[in-house]
Amino acid sequence: STLYVRHSSSSIDAKKKVKPRMKAWQLYQYGGNEELNLSNTAKIPSIQKPTDILIEVKAASVNPIDVNMRDGYGRTILNQMRKWFGTSSSASEFPLILGRDFSGVVKKTGHGVTKYKPGDQVWGALAAERNGTHAQFCVAGEKEISLRPKTLSDIEAASIPYVAMTVWAALHLVGELTSKNTPGKRVLIHGGSGGIGSFAIQLMKSWGAYVITTCSTDAIPLVRHLGADLIIDYKSQDSLTQLKSIDKVDVVLDPLGGETPSFTLDVLKSWSGAKYVSLVMPVLPATDKYGLLGGLAQSVADLNMNLFKSFTKGGINYRWAFFMPNSRALKKIASMVDSGQIQPVIDQVFKFEDLPDAYEKVGRKKGRGKTVIDVS
Ligand code: NDP
Repeated sequence: STLYVRHSSSSIDAKKKVKPRMKAWQLYQYGGNEELNLSNTAKIPSIQKPTDILIEVKAASVNPIDVNMRDGYGRTILNQMRKWFGTSSSASEFPLILGRDFSGVVKKTGHGVTKYKPGDQVWGALAAERNGTHAQFCVAGEKEISLRPKTLSDIEAASIPYVAMTVWAALHLVGELTSKNTPGKRVLIHGGSGGIGSFAIQLMKSWGAYVITTCSTDAIPLVRHLGADLIIDYKSQDSLTQLKSIDKVDVVLDPLGGETPSFTLDVLKSWSGAKYVSLVMPVLPATDKYGLLGGLAQSVADLNMNLFKSFTKGGINYRWAFFMPNSRALKKIASMVDSGQIQPVIDQVFKFEDLPDAYEKVGRKKGRGKTVIDVS
């Protein structure tokens, strides 16, 4: 090996390639808000695949999944997926950047990207195994983004992609509702005041459904403004009686889980293909608890039990749905926003530096629409 007898340290430094750096909120281990670290020298993510796109994030939203992932939720499956899809170049997921959606500007594209060029204003929602958007830059795949609505600011646009893609997966892909077959259908949306509910009400109204929603008393004006036809105040004493007395519905969207199916399955029409779509999947927590195989087995057992219970209650289809990136759906939603059929619903905007406050707020589960962070 070479022995360097005389050299200055500056000449060695000059040879080192300077790596571009960015501000980012990073986790080095799972835990509470105290584990969120603001770095000014985080590595700007690099394009790994031909279809990858480097994006400057202007605004991002905070979702319950971020707060849950901060605590370690889903780590077993997500780490497996990071290995399968090659989204993490190191052995460990740390330093981990959270945040699933964004509005921003394309900075650089992989050589296989045909639809986007630097300078395009885009929005998107990233697969859960990717490093996230609570940073100045993120890398997205071509299939995770679209051009963003022209009529919105970045802050407004960032409030939509993650909840929109979850609701799209739940009500369209799993619930099988379309703009053509929805008119006249009755859809019950639980938790109408939250991020998911406020988007779902608007999508269903724009497709012509009769929308029934549950929310607490102070959120009634909001869900009414969004177009809900029948509102059940779940804090009122006779909410269960009210729910039982409504005309039966075709589809239920349940983002709440827990006891909700036990008092809602009866609300669905019998033997008519009615669907109960739950967003609360036991798979991720089960694999964290029992390991990959044990957790999957436990989840299949849970699903079979729910399928059995719902089938015996009148042939109801009990289904789970989960967020899926979908560029075609994002494009469709962007045009619905620009034509005034869907509006952003923003509860609170936080400065980038105040992100832990935004996590604390979302963790309180009292959202009225969305919580957004201003990254610009
Ligand atoms: P938010 O925190 O924005 O909203 C939750 C809302 O639920 C609050 O507004 C709260 O309103 C309402 N709520 C709580 N309890 C009840 C109840 N008993 N009846 C009616 N409303 C109730 O969260 P999001 O809307 O963004 O997400 C909601 C849930 O959806 C998540 O916690 C997660 O479980 C699920 N989800 C699943 C995804 C998946 O891929 N499977 C993806 C995204 C979300 P109030 O203050 O009136 O109680």
